[in-house]
Amino acid sequence: MLIDQIQELRIQFQEELKRVKVSKDIEELKVKFLGRKGPVQELVRLLGTAPEQERKELGKNINLLKEELSNLCEEAFHVLSAAESLQQLREEKIDITLPGRRRSIGGLHPITQMMQEVAEILVGMGFSIQTGPDIDNDYYNYEGLNFPPDHPAREMQDTFYVTPHWLLRSHTSNVQLRVMEKRIPPIRMIAPGTVYRNETISSRSHVYFHQVEGMYIDQGVSFADLLSTMEEFWHKVFHSEVQVRFRPSFFPFVEPGMEIDIACTACMGKGCKLCKFSGWLEVAGAGMIHPNVLKNGGIDPERFSGYAWGLGIERLAMLRYGIKDIRNFSENDMRFLAQFA
Ligand SMILES: [Zn+2]
Repeated sequence: MLIDQIQELRIQFQEELKRVKVSKDIEELKVKFLGRKGPVQELVRLLGTAPEQERKELGKNINLLKEELSNLCEEAFHVLSAAESLQQLREEKIDITLPGRRRSIGGLHPITQMMQEVAEILVGMGFSIQTGPDIDNDYYNYEGLNFPPDHPAREMQDTFYVTPHWLLRSHTSNVQLRVMEKRIPPIRMIAPGTVYRNETISSRSHVYFHQVEGMYIDQGVSFADLLSTMEEFWHKVFHSEVQVRFRPSFFPFVEPGMEIDIACTACMGKGCKLCKFSGWLEVAGAGMIHPNVLKNGGIDPERFSGYAWGLGIERLAMLRYGIKDIRNFSENDMRFLAQFA
């Protein structure tokens, strides 16, 4: 009987609907039952074979079944897709237990930091910051600073010449005469900057590095003033009463000249590999400004005297941080640089 088939189909549909787990399968089920080749349409076709007096009632029943199946499909689709959205949300929700993605912040290069630290100490001691050109002429770098024409430092192996008279400054001392020419003593200045030497690159030397030049000119500036200023400065750099030693040395632009050593920061003067078992580390060159240099700068050496010194920033940073190879500073390796950020 057709009426029984209608009821059987309803039960069959309900059974199959129960097994559907995902919303996208609902459409498939709907097509299977309500599609043109499906069993419901088949019932419509069979309607013609039913006794005429029953057709109207059966037709109504088939329509009801169609409507019911269609509604059930729609309802199931909504329920399943709502559950699926919820599940998706759960999976996508922020896991607050995950470690955060740290945004990396840049830092100043260790050489810049060391240079700033040295400059801050000296500015605090009354020195003003001056600058000079990296590319300079022979006069300001050598001749005016009392370097005789045959001085070994002027040889090509030490200096990068751009032309026979222009060069990359080999020291920040090229700022000395420029400042003397423009100022009347008292002059108390420092000149931080990059310097260039035509040297073989190794763990201890590089073709460019950084210096801080210092200069003080006034009436009656004495060698004792230089010594006390240097002691004060080195104590401030190493935040301690580090022992400072002065050794006579020769530089053409000073007279007398000296080299400054501090007690080895690694062994405290006992002797180790860093200080080559001498207990001392060379940290700067200094001296009383040569009268010829003062004259070249337009300052009367009979009335004024002064001292000057120069120190290497890389050397200082290497001692401070225990860095063994100067090339680390110029290789831009983030693993090295990040330690100083
Ligand atoms: Zn040592």
